[in-house]
Amino acid sequence: MEGQPTYKQDIRSLSLEELKQAMASLGEKPYRAGQIYGWLHQKCAMSMDEMTNVPASLRSKLQEQYHTDGPRIVRELISEIDGTRKYLFELWDGHVIESVFMRYHHGNSVCISSQVGCAMGCAFCASTIGGRVRNLSSAEMLAQVYAITARTKERIANVVVMGSGEPLDNYDELVRFIRMLTDENGLHISQRSVTVSTCGLVPGIRKLALEDLTITLALSLHASTQEKREKLMPIARRYPLDELLEAVRYYHDRTGRRITYEYALVAGENDTAADAQALAKLIGAGGSHVNLIPVNPVDETGFQSPDPARVRRFVETLTKAGVNATVRREMGRDINGACGQLRRGYSKSGHGDGSSVLISPIGSGKKE
Ligand code: SAH
Repeated sequence: MEGQPTYKQDIRSLSLEELKQAMASLGEKPYRAGQIYGWLHQKCAMSMDEMTNVPASLRSKLQEQYHTDGPRIVRELISEIDGTRKYLFELWDGHVIESVFMRYHHGNSVCISSQVGCAMGCAFCASTIGGRVRNLSSAEMLAQVYAITARTKERIANVVVMGSGEPLDNYDELVRFIRMLTDENGLHISQRSVTVSTCGLVPGIRKLALEDLTITLALSLHASTQEKREKLMPIARRYPLDELLEAVRYYHDRTGRRITYEYALVAGENDTAADAQALAKLIGAGGSHVNLIPVNPVDETGFQSPDPARVRRFVETLTKAGVNATVRREMGRDINGACGQLRRGYSKSGHGDGSSVLISPIGSGKKE
């Protein structure tokens, strides 16, 4: 089940150049490529039928070779508190993934998945419980952004690759996705508004540093010592903390981009003032930013988040040590389903055969 499944190719995986070549091989005029690319990557058309200025004969020729199937919205949860929307999407082969749409004062943000499931095995994370099922293609990553744009009819300013999956474990498709997402012929999202979050795959970080991209790298650190990190994140055994920090320094030196650190606060594991001091020492004062995430309890893991006073003390200790830290605002609190729990809940409940279509703003009880 690994790698890319075989089926007709998703037409959204073709670059403009490749689409031009495809037009040539079909005996079509080159300008058709620009039209089709615009429909797919700017207007976020979810089917070829929407391409009204493309002749039906060409559309049907395209349909013989390519598809634009999915992702299909299986569930849409809309928060009454802050307008956050969580999507459960079904892919063309029946697998489900999740994405989140969030409204911030600096613009709308979408969090996408990079794999179905995940192989990294972080102890607190729901996405990894069933392992990695398969990688997503660049088109499937783009299509999450497009489907949400088409559904909300709102412009998306920021994209974070922080949903299910380890993006650097799907490196080539990730980089292709970023280039197409930020391409001037597509949505043209600024590279600076794209964040890739990794659990710390050192070779991937070093390779990404050389891609000539100005995206933000977020490192999921979650502990300030090798020993504690190993307890929470199996990947730490493969890539020890000193090598990892060297790799992110290299990323910073090559790209000039500051690293963001993510730190899930887990009660009794990594949440003491001493942990905060060790963290400050590790990443250094000035410039670094730490995103603290009180751990989202997942049934299967038993981890709990610290009480608010402890979280505050952790922030204060970091701030005093000169480290810029914020506690991530919990978006869509009333539509629980962070970090792979939506998909997990769906497959646990015996769904997943693709037979049900449910678009339900659960939690609000209100239709749009
Ligand atoms: N594989 C990537 C991106 C996916 S997860 C990575 O590890 O960075 C995005 C962030 O959510 C990561 O920092 C991850 O560790 C964190 N996360 C996963 N499960 C969580 C949970 N139950 N509570 C809080 N944060 C969690």
